[in-house]
Amino acid sequence: MYLMRMVYCSKMSDEFSTKEIDQILASARLNNKKVDVTGLLCFNRKYFLQCLEGGRTEFNKIYHAILNDRRHHNIVLLSYDEIVEREFAHWSMAYVPEVKITDEINMRFSGTPDFDPFSMHGESTFKMLQELKSQISEI
Ligand code: FAD
Repeated sequence: MYLMRMVYCSKMSDEFSTKEIDQILASARLNNKKVDVTGLLCFNRKYFLQCLEGGRTEFNKIYHAILNDRRHHNIVLLSYDEIVEREFAHWSMAYVPEVKITDEINMRFSGTPDFDPFSMHGESTFKMLQELKSQISEI
């Protein structure tokens, strides 16, 4: 089965309360584990940036569920590639909270110190996620 990676960003909807992030992570970890999908989610109380990795068929089913989730909108696919190795193999869904997405990291990968994945190059978003790997929180 082909191994794929995608990165997308989206905007939190009015239906979403920031406290629900725990609920999203809990179901993501449970569902992803069943189908060997791995990845990383970043959230800054405004935008989501997520990387998903896994076998193409199951991985796309998860993405379709995410697309239909009313807790976010303006979902923009930033990259979708066949890969030879996972970057986030150890995490069914790792989480990087806002506090770890520093001005310095934003400046390195975008034009401003603010976290705004919609104004970033697709490749920069993945490089930023790689950098944030060291900041992963299990909470
Ligand atoms: P459950 O997780 O059991 O649903 C629990 C509760 O969440 C529901 O009772 C309801 O209150 C709420 N809920 C569930 N779906 C929706 C919805 N579509 N709209 C509004 N409220 C809802 N899922 C994954 O499996 N893997 C992921 O990596 C993943 N990443 C996500 C990233 C983001 C930014 C968001 C917003 C969602 C993500 N989800 C992910 C959740 C996904 O969109 C579906 O909600 C989830 O797959 C449904 O799982 P479930 O059938 O087990 O429902």
